[in-house]
Amino acid sequence: MAAYEYETHEYDVVVVGAGGAGLRATLGMAEQGLRTACVTKVFPTRSHTVAAQGGIAASLSNMGPDHWQWHMYDTVKGSDWLGDTDAMEYLAREAPKAVYELEHYGVPFSRTEAGKIYQRPFGGHTTEFGEGPPVQRTCAAADRTGHAILHTLYGQSLKHNAEFYIEYFAIDLVMSEDGQCQGVLAWKLDDGTMHLFSAKMVVLATGGYGRAYFSATSAHTCTGDGGGMAARQGLALQDMEFVQFHPTGIYGAGCLITEGARGEGGYLTNSEGERFMERYAPTYKDLASRDVVSRCMTMEIREGRGVGAEGDHIHLHLNHLPPETLHERLPGISESARIFAGVDLTKEPIPVLPTVHYNMGGIPTNYWGEVLDPTDEDPDRIFPGLMAVGEAGCASVHGANRLGSNSLIDLVVFGRAAAIRAAKVVDPETAVPAPNLASVEKALDRFDHFRHANGTVPTAELRLEMQKTMQQDAAVFRTDKTLKEGVAKMDSVAAKLDDIKVTDRSLIWNSDLMETLELTNLMPNALATIHCAEARKESRGAHAQEDHPDRDDENWRVHSLARINGGVDLSYRPVHLEPLSTHENGGIDLKKIAPKARVY
Ligand SMILES: Cc1cc2nc3c(=O)[nH]c(=O)nc-3n(C[C@H](O)[C@H](O)[C@H](O)COP(=O)(O)OP(=O)(O)OC[C@H]3O[C@@H](n4cnc5c(N)ncnc54)[C@H](O)[C@@H]3O)c2cc1C
Repeated sequence: MAAYEYETHEYDVVVVGAGGAGLRATLGMAEQGLRTACVTKVFPTRSHTVAAQGGIAASLSNMGPDHWQWHMYDTVKGSDWLGDTDAMEYLAREAPKAVYELEHYGVPFSRTEAGKIYQRPFGGHTTEFGEGPPVQRTCAAADRTGHAILHTLYGQSLKHNAEFYIEYFAIDLVMSEDGQCQGVLAWKLDDGTMHLFSAKMVVLATGGYGRAYFSATSAHTCTGDGGGMAARQGLALQDMEFVQFHPTGIYGAGCLITEGARGEGGYLTNSEGERFMERYAPTYKDLASRDVVSRCMTMEIREGRGVGAEGDHIHLHLNHLPPETLHERLPGISESARIFAGVDLTKEPIPVLPTVHYNMGGIPTNYWGEVLDPTDEDPDRIFPGLMAVGEAGCASVHGANRLGSNSLIDLVVFGRAAAIRAAKVVDPETAVPAPNLASVEKALDRFDHFRHANGTVPTAELRLEMQKTMQQDAAVFRTDKTLKEGVAKMDSVAAKLDDIKVTDRSLIWNSDLMETLELTNLMPNALATIHCAEARKESRGAHAQEDHPDRDDENWRVHSLARINGGVDLSYRPVHLEPLSTHENGGIDLKKIAPKARVY
């Protein structure tokens, strides 16, 4: 048994993560009088949400007619009919409310002439149930929307007396003997002390796992820690095969050029100078959904029409737009293009390439954020004491493919929903249950094991091997053969965790150990991703399988579940087809969202 002392803290709710989702949940819980702690490994306003550029979707109708039902339709279609109908209805209906709340909290949105919140067009967002022209639905604070939201929510959380534990790394969940979540064990990075956060409800808001891949737009901190912690408790990860590649990562650097660039009129060309998206998506062209544009770019490159010396990327043009528009609406990306591509975007095109951007999959939840532990008899069974929100969770509103600007709205709608739910299920009057010491010891033992790991494979080396394998075999192009090889390779990469070598044994600012713990979290996410991808014999959304090019609703309109326990166990649960409200009661006409071919 490892000998570590730890300090115990008691709260009604502990939120792990201070990105948009974690802060919105923290604020909501604190507002409702729950004693709330927010534990975060980076300073709140350095969470990846700060990098979100383009904006946040809500049918405010500030720039022309819009309706929540159109937003819902676009989300259903974007998801390639894999999203849960109730959750998608909740998202689209609550979105305007959640955005006005942000406005009242103080988010400095860009404005129209009339003083209303400015909204821009984004890929896949349309009018008239996909029959009408693109809609301007994406609310923006220039190209720094995430930055504006994060700073505002942090200020508001402090105002409501939420307590922050900053640069505390959550290691593992603590479970009662009868399998209820009781808290989380965390390591304070700057002084090496250990902390047990005992709580009646734990909320995982730890973000995505983009760093399982070699080239990603996400921060280096996006290591799927929540998914890793959940997987170690035997919980399933859902729909992990669906990884979004953003069409416009800067070639070589991976930094994002927001879709807002195409929203403002930017377009893509191949080596022949052709606007090839007109050929693939005659109606919405460069504003087709992300998976579609990424796939088309990859096809152009594979067929020899890539640009550059190696013919391995594509050009994004903004040089035809008025410099005032670029300056006013897209100042951040002008800077990114200059620094990371050496390009003056008022004069030259930007070299871009599809880059890992978002994880549709995550810890399965209902639309209140409650984590599910599905069984065959009860696919919606709630796992007590645990919630997951934001990119770490899977509600599931994005299904097989997320629409641009639907993540920021997911963060605030479901962060808020989790708080509403917690106020119902958490009783502030009761005592915080005594922690199961065996579970705490188990977490400490695991920590100690890696602290003293003395194998032969350095963490950075193994991480690179994982990233390259995922990039090569679980990217935009997938075939039976590449996926089968990828699974075998990833299994052997993951096995090398047993032979990991950590060189720094100290407890203070030990980045070697922290990165090792992060790698142990990335690994189950990566394994689940490639195993689920190999098993899914169809093409849907971001999962484009060359050998099974069609969507197969009869056999595959199901959520994948992966449990990691030495091996990877796969099972499936049904997609929710029932809406929250019937058409007669003001809900959507189900005929409008019935599955059909997904063309843009
Ligand atoms: C470059 C970029 C641009 C984007 N632009 C847009 C956009 O315009 N519109 C849109 O809708 N979406 C956009 N997205 C997607 C969206 O920003 C993300 O999906 C979203 O911000 C994720 O938020 P989150 O709160 O779930 O997690 P994050 O913001 O990633 O925050 C995770 C939090 O968890 C904490 N954490 C993680 N692990 C631990 C641990 N072990 N212990 C303690 N704390 C931990 C971190 O400290 C951090 O506070 C963009 C994404 C990227 C990468």
